[in-house]
Amino acid sequence: MIGSGREKMPNNKQRSRRNLLKAIGSAAAVTSLGACVPTQSGIPDFQRPYSRKPWVAPRISHENVIREVVGHRPFRPAGFVVRSEKLGDKVIVHNYGHGSSGLTLSWGSSALAVRETLGMEHRDVAIIGGGVIGLTSARLLQDAGWNVTIYTRDMARHTVSNVAAGEFGPGGAHDPRVSTDAFKSRLDFAARVSHHAFTNLGGADYGVKWVEMHWPTDSLEDKLRPFDGSFENLYPYTTVMGPGEHPFPTRYLRSTLTMLIEPAIFLRRVTEDFHHAGGRIVIRDFGNKEELLSLPEPVIFNCTGLGSRTLFGDKELVPVKGQLVFLPPDPEVDYMTIGGGEGDLYMFSRSDVLLLGGFYKLNDATTHVEPEETVRIIGEHQRLFSNFGRTRA
Ligand SMILES: Cc1cc2nc3c(=O)[nH]c(=O)nc-3n(C[C@H](O)[C@H](O)[C@H](O)COP(=O)(O)OP(=O)(O)OC[C@H]3O[C@@H](n4cnc5c(N)ncnc54)[C@H](O)[C@@H]3O)c2cc1C
Repeated sequence: MIGSGREKMPNNKQRSRRNLLKAIGSAAAVTSLGACVPTQSGIPDFQRPYSRKPWVAPRISHENVIREVVGHRPFRPAGFVVRSEKLGDKVIVHNYGHGSSGLTLSWGSSALAVRETLGMEHRDVAIIGGGVIGLTSARLLQDAGWNVTIYTRDMARHTVSNVAAGEFGPGGAHDPRVSTDAFKSRLDFAARVSHHAFTNLGGADYGVKWVEMHWPTDSLEDKLRPFDGSFENLYPYTTVMGPGEHPFPTRYLRSTLTMLIEPAIFLRRVTEDFHHAGGRIVIRDFGNKEELLSLPEPVIFNCTGLGSRTLFGDKELVPVKGQLVFLPPDPEVDYMTIGGGEGDLYMFSRSDVLLLGGFYKLNDATTHVEPEETVRIIGEHQRLFSNFGRTRA
């Protein structure tokens, strides 16, 4: 599978040089790829860079919206927290605050958290939180020989983790202007461990697949995800097309391959693994951190996401409101897009829905759907795909 044999991939330097040459080449000689064929309608039929398949426009209309969903990313400008501390006679290991990248970073951040237990004699551990961070921490602790009980207010289906759109994108876990170099190097570690783990779980069973990702943009200087930070070499087959080589209403089209993780499938499957390995789940809502002292386990993992703001008083942790628009699944659309309009738009074609996003409101904890945002997200996407020459068979 592409990307799973990372030792075969070119190193950073080779890849950056290659990408640069591709970018320069396509910007200088815009028709050199010959990726378009004139049609009877006069609108050219373009081919996609990696698969050479034709573009199929997603079916996007207001009348066919099946659901809108709101969720809140647990964001800390300085980055996620992984550290341990004493509380009474317990050891608390924190693992929370992953912003827009919690699904992506889950395995890697949880590996960092489990590292905090090295040298401990105990074998019983409590995990507070049944989202993706709690579940991946639980699985890694089980692998390391711990008996694990998850205590949680909600199980996976009712968590923020289940609202995640599903892109493998590590860059949304911090504000790079605020976070330290020490954090950035932990982020890098977590991203690479997670990348390795997800490539290992590729396939329908865990809901992890490789897809073409396309990013329409007017400027090659833009550093939107996923090309921010030092993650470029996690993205194979990166190319740039210039004006006239692609059907988007922007000058350039960056394209690459990445992983799409379907949260509902992934969370259900990891929960099954947790049960098979002898794990126990107890539904419980903790009002304050002192209540944790009544638990029998000597070691406690805090994986409560945004809950850490009230439970542990972390005021740097803020909600970033998001809103997704779901349309019926559209299997003919076997690619995803990011960008190309206002508000960092995205269109992901999952097996359960065709998903449209592009809504980020910092420090907004309101839970209502904003209908005017749905109209904007749909309108922007309709504009993005309005110049597609090829219609469906
Ligand atoms: C619209 C949207 C799109 C996103 N898209 C992506 C994406 O494409 N890729 C990506 O990587 N990430 C994405 N994310 C981010 C991702 O969803 C989060 O970073 C991630 O889900 C955080 O996981 P978590 O386990 O820390 O938190 P949660 O999923 O919120 O889980 C926290 C758990 O703690 C429990 N809990 C909290 N407080 C208490 C308490 N006091 N007592 C008991 N239990 C408690 C909760 O019940 C829950 O089970 C997106 C988020 C949103 C909102």
